[in-house]
Amino acid sequence: MSPAIVWFRHDLRLRDNPALKAALERGGPVVPVCVLDDVGERPWAGGAASKWWLHGSLEALDTSLRERGSRLVVRRGDSLVELMALISETGARAVYWNHRCEPSVVARDGRIQGELARAGIEAKNSNGAYLFEPNRIANREGRPFRMFTPFWRHCLELPIDRPVKSDARHIPAPRRWPASLDADQRGLLPRISWDGGLKETWVPGEKGAGRRLKRFVTNALEAYDRRRDLPAEDGSSQLSASLHFGELGPRQVWAAVAAVGRDMGVCPASEGARVFLSELGWREFAQHLLFHFPFTPQAPLRSEFAGFDWAKDPGDAQFTAWTLGLTGYPIVDAGMRQLWRLGWMHNRVRMIVASFLVKHLRLPWQKGAAWFWDTLVDAGLANNTLGWQWSAGCGADAAPYFRIFAPVVQGERFDPEGAYVRRWVPELNRVPATFIHHPWDAPPNVLASAGVRLGEDYPRPVVDHAAARVAALAAFKKLRMEANHP
Ligand SMILES: Cc1cc2nc3c(=O)[nH]c(=O)nc-3n(C[C@H](O)[C@H](O)[C@H](O)COP(=O)(O)OP(=O)(O)OC[C@H]3O[C@@H](n4cnc5c(N)ncnc54)[C@H](O)[C@@H]3O)c2cc1C
Repeated sequence: MSPAIVWFRHDLRLRDNPALKAALERGGPVVPVCVLDDVGERPWAGGAASKWWLHGSLEALDTSLRERGSRLVVRRGDSLVELMALISETGARAVYWNHRCEPSVVARDGRIQGELARAGIEAKNSNGAYLFEPNRIANREGRPFRMFTPFWRHCLELPIDRPVKSDARHIPAPRRWPASLDADQRGLLPRISWDGGLKETWVPGEKGAGRRLKRFVTNALEAYDRRRDLPAEDGSSQLSASLHFGELGPRQVWAAVAAVGRDMGVCPASEGARVFLSELGWREFAQHLLFHFPFTPQAPLRSEFAGFDWAKDPGDAQFTAWTLGLTGYPIVDAGMRQLWRLGWMHNRVRMIVASFLVKHLRLPWQKGAAWFWDTLVDAGLANNTLGWQWSAGCGADAAPYFRIFAPVVQGERFDPEGAYVRRWVPELNRVPATFIHHPWDAPPNVLASAGVRLGEDYPRPVVDHAAARVAALAAFKKLRMEANHP
């Protein structure tokens, strides 16, 4: 029997992998392949932190395959060219993969499917990444949803497939293995070593993801609804990068969480489980929006926001302060430094720093999204776009523009003792809780005994909250007037 190629992409796992299942069921040898195709993924090829994760995840997948008598073939180049080369090198007659919904990838994959079919190669793609395929969900008028609650209510009435059985003790190997790039030839790791924090924190790969899921379900799921907004606590799953790269499929997560409840259905036992599953719902909603509104990574869903009066930022000074965690607002700075060190940031703090960039600094959300794209290990086009458009008030079901997060109030509410700030902004470590979120209000003797000289050890605020709020509201008012009287 001729071999089948399994083209791994954002499904770097052996379990619950429909493409691998299809290849195994076919019965012949299997050639597992990953193609590093920066050109085909343009303009959204992975950023630096994301590439770091991918490197580890490919290594882990290769190890798991080798335990089963197989291996991962890694190539770099145009996906179609590399697949065709592999077909001719191995004599494969079938290519199986799981689909993705980023617009440029959808277009590329469509072209590849057509070319393979023309060459007489069986080409099949399946759904391994979503609970509900984005193109199958529509409202009563047959149009895409724009609000989360009706979207999720609708989804929850639909059946959810169980994970498929795709892992095998032995994966049949081809007679000869085609050439593959060694780990050090893949160019995914940074040239200068800024990745110490990532190495200390994460274990990319299916096994690491499985352990993290188990730990979360055992220790944190039940209280998720109460702790998920507290950045100092370990209250969320931290599974986002694993879900992004498909080291875990959402059906597996759903099954693990719903199994803690009454059964495999949608009746989770605890409020924690219900809220957590609805976060998976936001992930589905993000894919749904990206699929139906493919322009949104660059342009606002609500087109009137295209003319928004963004501030001037000479020399990128304010943006740079934001990226470095030197805005003078402790909760914002803590988040940005957590991002830089771990390649991950707590969800509540993502909302705070994003709001700060677009409303206090009035800088375009696309700039922030691009920074996140490069620095997040979980950078995902759908989730990142939704998160930024939500924060900027220009997306689906977004926070209204006039609701402006006050960083001090947010800090006091979600990090009341300042534990999160102390961890990531150590120069404020000795500032008492009363002033930790607004050290500029602390009396000089309090700052002196905390060892802080404002403007030297820690910056003064780059903008005044009250003035920034007034300016943001004025810009919003102007936008509304222009929309009403074009
Ligand atoms: C400005 C901004 C940018 C963001 N960029 C990304 C991104 O690039 N990649 C990314 O995966 N998430 C992004 N998010 C969503 C969210 O912050 C992260 O998914 C979450 O913090 C990851 O941590 P966790 O795995 O512990 O989440 P949990 O709270 O444990 O949630 C479980 C899973 O649900 C999904 N999820 C949770 N919240 C959201 C959400 N608001 N929207 C969509 N899916 C969600 C994620 O896959 C997450 O892993 C962004 C949010 C904002 C406000």
